[in-house]
Amino acid sequence: DKAEIGLIGLGTMGSNLALNIAEKGHRIAVYNRTPSRTDDFVAKAGALASRVVPCESLADLAAAIRPPRPIIIMVLAGTPVDEQIAALRGELAANDIIIDAGNANFRDTMRRFKELEGSGLTFIGMGVSGGEEGARHGPSIMVGGKEESWRRVESVLTAISAKFKGEPCAAWLGTDGAGHFVKTIHNGIEYADMQMIAEIYGILRDGLGMAPKEIGSVFADWNKGRLNSYLIEITAEVLKADDPQTGKPVVDIILDRAGQKGTGKWSVIEAQQLGIPATAIEAAVAARVLSSLKDERLAAERVYGGGVVPIKAPRETLLKQLELALFAGKIAAYAQGFAVMAGASKEFNWNLPMPTIAKIWRAGCIIRSQMLDTMVEAFGTGAASTNLLMAPDFVKMMQEAHPALRHVVALAMEAGSPVPALSSALAYFDSYRQGRGTSNLIQAQRDFFGAHGFERIGETGAFHGPWGQG
Ligand code: NDP
Repeated sequence: DKAEIGLIGLGTMGSNLALNIAEKGHRIAVYNRTPSRTDDFVAKAGALASRVVPCESLADLAAAIRPPRPIIIMVLAGTPVDEQIAALRGELAANDIIIDAGNANFRDTMRRFKELEGSGLTFIGMGVSGGEEGARHGPSIMVGGKEESWRRVESVLTAISAKFKGEPCAAWLGTDGAGHFVKTIHNGIEYADMQMIAEIYGILRDGLGMAPKEIGSVFADWNKGRLNSYLIEITAEVLKADDPQTGKPVVDIILDRAGQKGTGKWSVIEAQQLGIPATAIEAAVAARVLSSLKDERLAAERVYGGGVVPIKAPRETLLKQLELALFAGKIAAYAQGFAVMAGASKEFNWNLPMPTIAKIWRAGCIIRSQMLDTMVEAFGTGAASTNLLMAPDFVKMMQEAHPALRHVVALAMEAGSPVPALSSALAYFDSYRQGRGTSNLIQAQRDFFGAHGFERIGETGAFHGPWGQG
């Protein structure tokens, strides 16, 4: 009995995805570079092992799958993907589909798509979000490639995806790099969301002197309201957990140095390339970089003094404001992420379906939240087509929440509690809502030193100032 689908790479994501596929009734052939991992996988697959065909080589893998073969590659992003594709090419035949499900840079995906064009093979770049748990029980799946290739794998991918009120969180989003681009921006928004949560945690911990468990309860409460989301939920759980080794709260034994694998950075690079402001995401990426400079920060603390001035404010009122501030900051971060996607959609001719993107992010992925359901509506009716901040539902939410964001940022800045993402979100919002900004001065300066010219209000053409005329 031949398998319907193949999978290469039985690491954290690949092994769980393979079990998910088998569980949905599909026979799957698997291959891993290190054979012992394949053996371990089969040993742990339990009853599902009957639907798994372990293979010792790519030739075995190709032979085990019924043509035309769909093969998922779930290995370390970068060169390993190119190596796997190169090795697979010799084993595959016309109409087979190679699906890269790792966190590829969409520019690599576009290149690979092109390289395989004309070979008879088809390439799909597929973003998968949801971590280990998502891969096993239902991730959010963002697909890029030819629509006809998607049609051929649609039933498997929708079967294994997360469901939001019965609707699958898997969709075809556009050609070549569209899926991996959307996954990248998903992660960019995730960086901003996590950073803002961490900033609020900082205010509660250092400004209010609250203990981890107390802060955990605050987040748990917030998770019942407008901030309801996976990231708030796990934040509450994390803050309540104790380290078995020391009995201390886990967050207190973890070094304050954040890692990153590139998707946040790519979001920022692409936003800059497209000329779309994504300041909250930029601030979040920079915050991770700064966090990694632990020794320098310790030295600077000795020079300037560290610490945060205690914030004196009635606790209940302040908590309400912190909740609203986080909400407002989050809206701005999403507005930026969607704006970057809109820019890329034009640049790369993807015609990205924004309502669908909001839909498939409602379950399975890391940034899933109640707010995304409101976004589906806002993008679906076209109300958010200029910017999410202009959709009536979001205007209402922002009008209610932005004063709190302003207040919290001001308080935090006075106290010396760093809020780079929240303050960037606020600055973006404030700049966005100024009908009259200050770039008239920038234009004058540019003209002064570089004769760049400027526009006069209400007139067409380029003008110069009276500089150097005494
Ligand atoms: P793991 O580190 O758990 O597994 C890596 C896999 O890649 C292993 O199967 C490993 O094989 C294989 N591999 C590494 N280098 C090579 C190579 N040169 N040639 C062949 N195979 C190789 O990684 P994850 O499962 O976490 O991640 C896989 C992909 O999924 C990455 O692109 C990641 O960014 C992405 N991703 C991860 C998420 C997560 O939450 N972990 C979420 C979403 C996407 P071997 O056993 O031989 O070492």
